[in-house]
Amino acid sequence: MKRLVVLGAGESGVGTAILGKKEGYDVFVSDKGTIADDYKEVLRNFEIEWEEQQHTEDKIFNADVVMKSPGIPDSVTLVKSLLRKGISVVSEIEFASKYTKAILVGITGSNGKTTTTMLTHHVLKHGGIEVNMGGNIGDSFAKQVAENDKPFYVLEISSFQLDGILDFAPHIAILTNITPDHLDRYEYKIENYIASKFRIVMNQTEEDYFIYDADNELITEYLKQYPIRSKLLPFSLKKTVENGGYLEEENIKITIDNNTLIMPTKNLALEGNHNVKNAMAAATVAQLLKIRKATIRECLENFHGVEHRLESVLKINNVQYINDSKATNVNATFYALDAMKSATVWIVGGVDKGNDYSELYALVNEKVKAIICLGVDNSKIINAFGNCVDNITETQSMKEAVNMAYKIAERNENVLLSPACASFDLFKNYEERGRQFKEAVREL
Ligand code: ADP
Repeated sequence: MKRLVVLGAGESGVGTAILGKKEGYDVFVSDKGTIADDYKEVLRNFEIEWEEQQHTEDKIFNADVVMKSPGIPDSVTLVKSLLRKGISVVSEIEFASKYTKAILVGITGSNGKTTTTMLTHHVLKHGGIEVNMGGNIGDSFAKQVAENDKPFYVLEISSFQLDGILDFAPHIAILTNITPDHLDRYEYKIENYIASKFRIVMNQTEEDYFIYDADNELITEYLKQYPIRSKLLPFSLKKTVENGGYLEEENIKITIDNNTLIMPTKNLALEGNHNVKNAMAAATVAQLLKIRKATIRECLENFHGVEHRLESVLKINNVQYINDSKATNVNATFYALDAMKSATVWIVGGVDKGNDYSELYALVNEKVKAIICLGVDNSKIINAFGNCVDNITETQSMKEAVNMAYKIAERNENVLLSPACASFDLFKNYEERGRQFKEAVREL
């Protein structure tokens, strides 16, 4: 019997353990931290052996294959020792993809993964395709392969998952964009991070497709240096492409082999230029899979959007309150500000991941009437924007931030929470930050 050791008992770890058990492996799960009670319960129900708050080497080094959760860096001693011994250390998507014959749509990028994944799933499902959604969203891919396999999957894939693949090959790959993020895991070298993202096409063949943002220079430069095998389907807001997605006047056009889908951008449910790109990517997949054009259009018109991503919360006294708590980097906030159609009170701040705010100057000058800094250390933001706006204040309470914004914003203006930073200084995570914002708005 082959032995599968799972490091890390989160959603992907527990899912892999379930799949391993089903496929006849002798499974052992080891977590250096504590395991959540509901996951322990699942492991017990499946009679899978586990340990927490330690890694017992004797029970790990006899593995035939190790699945490492995405949160564990390659640099930890245990992983290094495993690799030195020649034991294969893979990610969940690598392990799980061996046990399904499904056609895979893999979506990666610095921003827009979740939105594009949910949008693509929405269109395919309504197009009558039997499709699951997984990756960083909801149930793990591995668990679905074990318990509820379907002929298609739309998978949100992080670079950490891609670092652990050997043979994983999506039939359709999407790279939404590349901007600097998570560089701490890539020796602070952007080229390492770019190479990691491009692993999504590493095992694709001439029969497969690669959909990507042709306006993103990091992507186009890389493609010039390292041509890939799969068929290219770029999307662009700036230029016309022969095969792929582009804009003509106010219309999105998706052309594949002379067959063109046309849709006015004003009909898109999700606002902002970044969402035009996400819609192009999703519609390209749908066109490839031959979903009816009317269905594709309808789905792009009625998709509700995803919580904490440019989410409209309420209109009070004709002021629109918008929750974009998931914007944890400058690029995401860039598109949020870009999407604002009137003067905006901007709530920003948190844990700075080495942000370069200069990219935002033009937008802030044009659209932002006041800045409310919501973070423990706001000095960098104040230095960056002190000259752009007259009204710049600080607080460490969400309720107070929202109250301040309420006093400043006037009819037809916006209050936007788009922090450009991580949330850990004042909140548990970005979800809690977004929820507190919405609660404070509802209490106004
Ligand atoms: P991810 O899963 O990659 O983190 P999300 O869809 O959760 O992406 O969006 C994260 C943030 O980035 C949100 O603030 C969202 O409004 C913004 N965003 C979404 N799509 C894009 C895009 N294509 N380019 C830039 N920012 C985007």
